[in-house]
Amino acid sequence: MTLEKESSFLTIPGAIHIHTTYSDGTGTVPEVAAAARRAGLRWIVITDHDDLRAKAEEGWYDGVAVLAGYEITPERNHYLVCGLDEVVSNELAPADYVRLVAEKGGLGFVAHPDERVTNEHTRPFRWDDWSLRGFTGIELWNYMSEWIERYTRRMRYVNYFFPQLVVRGPTAETLAWWDLLATEGWRPTGIVGADVHAVRVRAWGRVWEVFPYEQVFRTLTNYLVVEQPLEAAFSEASRQILNALRRGRVIMANRTWGEAASTHFVALLPDGSRATVGDTVSLGSQIVLDFRAPARGHITLYRNGQVLVRNRWARRLRHVVREPGHYRVEVRRWGQLWILTNHIHVE
Ligand SMILES: [Zn+2]
Ligand SMILES: [Zn+2]
Repeated sequence: MTLEKESSFLTIPGAIHIHTTYSDGTGTVPEVAAAARRAGLRWIVITDHDDLRAKAEEGWYDGVAVLAGYEITPERNHYLVCGLDEVVSNELAPADYVRLVAEKGGLGFVAHPDERVTNEHTRPFRWDDWSLRGFTGIELWNYMSEWIERYTRRMRYVNYFFPQLVVRGPTAETLAWWDLLATEGWRPTGIVGADVHAVRVRAWGRVWEVFPYEQVFRTLTNYLVVEQPLEAAFSEASRQILNALRRGRVIMANRTWGEAASTHFVALLPDGSRATVGDTVSLGSQIVLDFRAPARGHITLYRNGQVLVRNRWARRLRHVVREPGHYRVEVRRWGQLWILTNHIHVE
């Protein structure tokens, strides 16, 4: 196999952070699964507020693997949990539920850590203690919280009809925290969250659905990077999905700016083998980082949070690694964040 051949990794699109009728969403589990299928997703993780009733409805729905977790939802410090059969109490301190979820073998993601809502519609639900450690990952970018944050009376019509104009990307603080944790050795998985509720509001004499499930599912997407397609047996597929989330095998994209299914970020090793996002490779030999996007954009390679290389309006970026560090890529189109990879760790 030459190095120019297609990478052997597959990307499988899905979404996490979804509310159904078991909490404050408006769709049932089968309805949400159907919306996911129409939006081209292959897996979703339902996360109702402190509620795991969706667990009884887990399974394959016409090609979409539906997993159930939940969102630990105190006043602040929301925490997405999956891979557990029981609900951990929202009355514990964040340090305690982070530790308990890990001890029980579950995955935990800090939800919308940098939400700063200041308008009259909602309160900020940000994560207070950024010195806490021990979680699986961070929801770097949350569609609803960013939308609500930018919702003002003057801008509300623009926000409603053109949400793509106000959904820009994770905050610099969130990205810096994620990069710092990588350098500290924690290496949390970065994910994007839909946080979709499909809230219905009454206005101007009719009922409007504020972001139907399908519409949100066509935006922030987590592509799992795996060697094998999802297994037909649901328990196996579920294990593959959780395993990829745990290992940082995720490429994030806002599909508003283009499909991102064939995005690849790999480390090419001299023996012809490849590593990808979430993996650790050692710098004993020459390593080439190879990033490819399905369409042109402004590509930036970061090392430990610092800009290392920029390729303007390109589909590809290659870089010979000279230093250890935590490497990730961002791609922008028309000034908007399109693709954001997890780190490849070089020791
Ligand atoms: Zn929340
Ligand atoms: Zn939520």
